[in-house]
Order: sequence, then structure tokens, then C-alpha cells
Amino acid sequence: MTPFRFVIVGGGTAGWMTALLLAKRMADPAMNQIRPVHITLLEAPDIGIIGVGEGSTPSLKRFFHQLNIPDSEWMPACQATYKTNIRFCHWTEADHDGVRQAQQYSHPFLTQLDVHSEQAFYSNCFKRRCGLAVTTDPAKFLFNGWLAERGLAPLTPVHFPFRLEYGYHFDSGLLGQFLRQKAQALGVHYQALTINQVEQWPNGCIRAVAGLNTSQQLLRIDADFFIDCSGFQAMLLQKTLQVPFQSFQNSLFNDAAVVLPTAALPDLPVETKATALSNGWAWQIPLRHRTGNGYVYSSAFTSPEAAERELRRHLRLSDDIQARHLQMRVGQVSQHWHKNCLAVGLAQGFIEPLEATALHLVQTTVESFIDCLVSHQYLQQADFANQQPAQQRFNTEVSNRFERVRDYIVAHYKLNNRQDSDYWRQNRAQQQLSESLLQLLDVWYRRGNLAQEIERQQLDSHFGNTSWHCLLAGYQVFPPLLTPPPAGIRDAYLDGQLAELFAGCCLNFPTQSALLSTGYHQRTIIN
Ligand SMILES: Cc1cc2nc3c(=O)[nH]c(=O)nc-3n(C[C@H](O)[C@H](O)[C@H](O)COP(=O)(O)OP(=O)(O)OC[C@H]3O[C@@H](n4cnc5c(N)ncnc54)[C@H](O)[C@@H]3O)c2cc1C
Repeated sequence: MTPFRFVIVGGGTAGWMTALLLAKRMADPAMNQIRPVHITLLEAPDIGIIGVGEGSTPSLKRFFHQLNIPDSEWMPACQATYKTNIRFCHWTEADHDGVRQAQQYSHPFLTQLDVHSEQAFYSNCFKRRCGLAVTTDPAKFLFNGWLAERGLAPLTPVHFPFRLEYGYHFDSGLLGQFLRQKAQALGVHYQALTINQVEQWPNGCIRAVAGLNTSQQLLRIDADFFIDCSGFQAMLLQKTLQVPFQSFQNSLFNDAAVVLPTAALPDLPVETKATALSNGWAWQIPLRHRTGNGYVYSSAFTSPEAAERELRRHLRLSDDIQARHLQMRVGQVSQHWHKNCLAVGLAQGFIEPLEATALHLVQTTVESFIDCLVSHQYLQQADFANQQPAQQRFNTEVSNRFERVRDYIVAHYKLNNRQDSDYWRQNRAQQQLSESLLQLLDVWYRRGNLAQEIERQQLDSHFGNTSWHCLLAGYQVFPPLLTPPPAGIRDAYLDGQLAELFAGCCLNFPTQSALLSTGYHQRTIIN
């Protein structure tokens, strides 16, 4: 049987994650019997990768798990740290005796241990939505919030009966190199090639790509299926096949970023810090060898120079460290898979990095694609000229995932109450909200059942009930308190024994700094 040939264009994180997921799944003997595959990854070394994107969601843990790569192997190679939480600073303000004060809140990743506390969190939020004064700080109810406040690493000791979820921070350049080694070990072929020509069949499918290799020789490579991981260049799906790009700019204003690394923090936090600034927000990502910082802003409201000055002020940095400026295209393609081409990573779209969802979207896109290929026998029939129902369903599913992630991010801007700039005022005033988001907010304001609404809209696989409660409670999207306060109100946090339980559990966990300095292998891990 002739092998089915995949060509992946692009050697950024998206290209190598795609190569690894494909290679791993296709190496399964049952798959190989259907049809062997041959995977080649092409990369233009002179173009380079975007080289930012250093935070993940817990799905990256699943990615490494399915590849049988333990934390102890990849984390030191990529200067990685654990992440349990995102801390949002100054996205809202509150009046205290006539003085406006910056607020902060946490969005911790949900863990198994939270079965003991999430109902108390929902119940308190509901009481607060009815005007009663009760505790609604997400970090108090979710165990990863406790770990984040104490800088504790989320690795479960052997005797601890709950599994914890966590994501990571990592150096994206080193991660790309690590994934490349692993993919090549699984049989993925690599070719440095700057593609400048794409040939198509009469039916519109891509036939071959061609370009110059590092010795300036012209090479032509044909394949059965092409995966476009060429980043914002989007050279196959958008430029060649002319699949339109749908911008999210009318609801997500940020389209640029300035990046400035600083020294590593002495006590490594287990959280990303996202601090709202005058025309966007700044991230702080703790890595072992440095701290990643960047300011994501809207070029309609500020210039690159002013944004850089503001970031330097925020970091208290002088001018001697070189900043890097980037443009971002926020939105998604109208079809992620068209003819014999799938786009993955920045080539398929990007939602700004606030919740660090880009690699999560890469992973879920590729996993769904492989499931679709295998279950609908595309590998045997290889007829990609006309769209099949399974492909349509795939495209709808991926678009829907992008839109629901977008909605969650949009809510962060829409709900702000900052007064300090037109940027924040216009974000608050913008009316481009999806039907799904409008319904969610409506249920919250009407004191309806948010969990039921999330289930009705099948949103759990994107941002679920807890994430929405963290956001809405964190933002204090509540009515004024009832006056005088009714007597006998029970606070599920103060009345319960959560603080005692969580404080006791915390005793099992070392600080991230201590754990990383002793080496991962010295600890028995059952995650
Ligand atoms: C400001 C910012 C912050 C971000 N933060 C996060 C985050 O915290 N978490 C997260 O998950 N994601 C984040 N992202 C997104 C993340 O950076 C990307 O999703 C990730 O790096 C994958 O990029 P990519 O592989 O799609 O593209 P790139 O890294 O740009 O790679 C493109 C590849 O295509 C190749 N290429 C291009 N043209 C050609 C050609 N003509 N011929 C051959 N090869 C070609 C290049 O050589 C390169 O190898 C962020 C992005 C931005 C802009």
C-alpha cells in the first residue's frame, strides 16, 4: 500500500505539535493497517517562528501525557514552570469611601478537590446576586487558587487522594526544539525550505509546494494532504485557497504587542499575572531562566512607542533592554479545513492571549481532525475535492470552539468599569456580543441558573460553569447590597470548613521554587 503523504508547512509550536500528534496516532499498528502515512515538515529557517506564547491551559498536560513524555523530561529542557491560576489585576475598580481602588481576582484551573467547594462557591454567588453580603472571591473556593497564593507546586504527593489539574509556563523557542526532536524520533521528516510556489490540481486541491532549500536549490514536494502551520503568513489556506478570514476586531480591539523579558523571579509564582494598563493589558509569565513580559494593546488607541514606554514604566525598567514589537491578527478562517488543506495555529486564527488558549486550540483542532480522518476513511478514499458532511461538521465544531473562547475573552473587556481611558470606555460600550454571550449574561443578571444555561448551550468543553462564575464574581457583577442587611445570612465559606480543609491540604505541597531546585525526579508523582 502506498503511504498517505502529509506535508506540514511551518515549524513553530503549531507545526511540531501537529506533527507529533499525527505521528503518534498513526504509529498505532491498527492505524498503520488502514494505510501507512509519511509526514514531512517544511520550515523556512529565514522566516523564523513568532517566539511568544509561553502560557498554557491544562490541556498541555494531556498532550504530554498521551505522548508518554513526563514533566521531568520536558520541563527542564524548556525552562518550564507550573501554572495553576491566572491573576487579573486592575481590570475593575471599586469605590472605597469615595476613592476608586484597583481590584484583583483569580481564575484558578478547576481540580478534583474542588468537588468539596464548588457548590459553596455557586451558592454564595447566587446569594450575592440577590444582594446579600457573602464571600465570593474565587481563590478562596478553588484549591488551585490557594496553591497560587502560596506559590505551591501542584504535584500530588502519593498519599494525596485527589488529582490536580494544572497548566505550564515555558520558553516557546525551547519547546519548539524539544518537540522537533521528539517528532523526528517518531519518524517525521524535516526539510528546511522557503516555499515560494504552490501548485494546484484543476479541482482546486493543492498538488505540491516548491521553494529554495538552504543551499539555494529548488525543491518540489508533492503530497496528498497539506497542513498549513505557516503562522500569520497563512500561505496555503488563506493565500492559495483563498479561504476568507473573519476578523474579531469589532469585539476584540487588541491587535499589537510589545515584549520585554526580565530576570527570573526569586520565588517562582505558579500563576500568570494579567494586569490591565491604559490601552490593553500586560502579562507576567514566570520561567526558570527569565520572566516573560508583554503588553497587548490596541493600535487604534495608542502607538507602539507609547505602549513600550508604558510597559517600561509598569515594569520599572530602563531603556537598555531591547523590546520586540508584534502585530496580531485576531479572528479565524471561515473554514479551517478546505479541500486537501487544514490550517492549524496562527494560520487558522488567533484570539488574543488573555487566557493562553492558542495551543489548546491547536491541540483540539488536530485531535478532532485525526478522529475525523480515521472514522470517515479519508485515508483510503483520499477524495478531498468536495466537502463531505464529516468535514462540514468538523469545520462547524472548530469555528464554534473559537467563537466560544472569543466570547469568554470579550466578557473581560465588556464588563470592565475603568474610567481612565477611551479604550476601556469603548470596550464597555461596544455592542458586538454574540447571542450566546448575551444569553449567559442575561441569565446571570436575572438570577437564573447559570449551570443549566451553560449545559443548554453545551459550553462546558470551552469555559465551563466555574470559569464563568470566577469571571462574573471576580468582576463583582452583582447588584448593590441590600440595606439594611437581612439578619441570619449564612455564608457557605465562613460557615463551612473549607479554609481548614484547604489549609491542611496545602501542607502537602512544596513551593515551586523548592520543587524545581531539588529536581522533579526526586518526588513520586501520580498525576
Ligand atoms: C503576543 C502574543 C502572545 C501569545 N501568548 C500565548 C500564550 O500565552 N499561550 C499560547 O498558547 N499562545 C500564545 N500565543 C500564540 C502562540 O504564539 C502561537 O499560537 C504559537 O506560537 C504557534 O504559532 P505558529 O506555529 O502557528 O506560528 P509561528 O511560530 O509563526 O510559525 C510559523 C512557521 O511557518 C514557517 N513559514 C512561514 N512562511 C513560510 C514559507 N513561505 N515557507 C516555509 N515555511 C514558512 C516559519 O518558518 C515558522 O516555522 C501568543 C501570540 C502572540 C502574538
